[in-house]
Amino acid sequence: MTHPAQPEASHFINGEYVEDTAGTPIPVIYAATGAQIATVYAATPAIVELALSTAKEAQKAWAKMTGTERGRILRRAADIMRERNHDLSVLETYDTGKPLQETLVADATSGADALEYFGGLAASLTGEHIPLGEDWVYTKREALGLCVGIGAWNYPTQIACWKGAPALACGNSMVFKPSETTPLCALKVAEILIEAGAPAGVFNVVQGMGEVGGALVTDPRVDKVSLTGSVPTGKKVYAAAAEGMKHVTMELGGKSPLIIFDDADIDNAVGGAINGNFYSSGQVCSNGTRVFVQKGIKEKFLARLAERTGNAILGDPMDEATSFGPMVTENQMNIVLGYVEKGKEEGARLICGGNRADMDGYFIEPTVFADVTDDMTIAREEIFGPVMSVLDFETEEEVVARANDTEFGLSAGVFTKDFTRAHRVIGNLEAGSCFINSYNDAPVEAPFGGVKASGVGRENSKEAIKHFSQVKSVYVRMGDVEAAF
Ligand code: NAD
Repeated sequence: MTHPAQPEASHFINGEYVEDTAGTPIPVIYAATGAQIATVYAATPAIVELALSTAKEAQKAWAKMTGTERGRILRRAADIMRERNHDLSVLETYDTGKPLQETLVADATSGADALEYFGGLAASLTGEHIPLGEDWVYTKREALGLCVGIGAWNYPTQIACWKGAPALACGNSMVFKPSETTPLCALKVAEILIEAGAPAGVFNVVQGMGEVGGALVTDPRVDKVSLTGSVPTGKKVYAAAAEGMKHVTMELGGKSPLIIFDDADIDNAVGGAINGNFYSSGQVCSNGTRVFVQKGIKEKFLARLAERTGNAILGDPMDEATSFGPMVTENQMNIVLGYVEKGKEEGARLICGGNRADMDGYFIEPTVFADVTDDMTIAREEIFGPVMSVLDFETEEEVVARANDTEFGLSAGVFTKDFTRAHRVIGNLEAGSCFINSYNDAPVEAPFGGVKASGVGRENSKEAIKHFSQVKSVYVRMGDVEAAF
């Protein structure tokens, strides 16, 4: 019998499901059991061509609609997503293995927020009038054209919406390629947009590995590429986009610092560290995986952290009581277990976890290492799993210098009751998305993105509009033209 997660076909192009079984088969594995639940096929060159030519053509009429009309469609799509939140959350759980307890509140819901927010902004995209005596200049905010979105596997619905909603609001069309690990959810976003009234071809989904992503990025018809992925992939995609002088947004990896001063509320700081390391089993780009704790509260913090981490409920992700799910794939589990071994070998003190959980699926226990030093592998490399490194520090000056000593710069957080210090420390940290007495909140109203190797551009908020549109400037002369000859 066909599993309910099996989509009607692999791709969604020009308003309908499209299949081409000549592409490489991509198995979809449910991370909680290891069972294959669906199969899709990587896009063949013919599918890539169909998606790009369709999106190129559909963009022209879409950009000519008023912002109010485009916005209404996006807001209708948001309503449909919210009505179907339960089914979409179950599908997200099949796609990623994340517990339903999370997917019910974080995935289709945040996708709907993006559709609603950018739907609301669509009608407000205007230019300026710049008077110059009798002459004047006016500006127009125009669409870029055909945009490509490429997603990572940790938030497949959210990533499709974070890219698709602002792109469409500005009058662009999009071809979106989900991660080959989680191909299912973006298809539902495409289906819902059509149901909400989007013209066929403005949002298309094609499946495939890096090769298909590469074919999309290098096509001369494409005007912009927005990638969510790792730094090594980001470097390749950025370089390929530069060849064609395309616009880019790069949402890449991190190794973010979370700094806890000894005047902090311990339970809030522990809560922040848990949210910043163990949500989605640690598979979050902005995680605060280097937790710097001031020496005065170190042992108290570690004791409370171990106690609360012990309350995580590992189990069937479809059971709403489960609060901690498996790694997305067996491969990701093995990568993370390799880092855990490195942590032990290099002399970090294991506080809790440290093993594959004794159950079906790709579960790793939430793991905390203390006495981690800056040079250890687990403090330097992005692990993308539930492995928290706790490092000691003494002074503010020292911790800021150490926190910034990394190629990454996605996020940073600080817990302290001293507000002057909180703002000063955040001001000195090299990171794009920061938190004071909190961690990992990502409302659509706030810009999201990194500095240094963690990325270029911003998603969400009004900033995203700037990255999916461009300004045309028009000089208007009222008098005669003077010329030298
Ligand atoms: P990945 O870099 O392996 O893949 C990302 C996407 O790029 C996939 O769809 C993949 O098929 C595609 N791709 C790979 N090579 C390509 C190429 N040469 N040309 C075009 N496309 C190509 O990342 P992943 O393992 O799927 O996701 C985990 C990474 O994503 C982590 O580093 C994480 O930090 C990062 N991430 C960042 C954010 C953010 O917003 N900053 C959010 C989620 C995940």
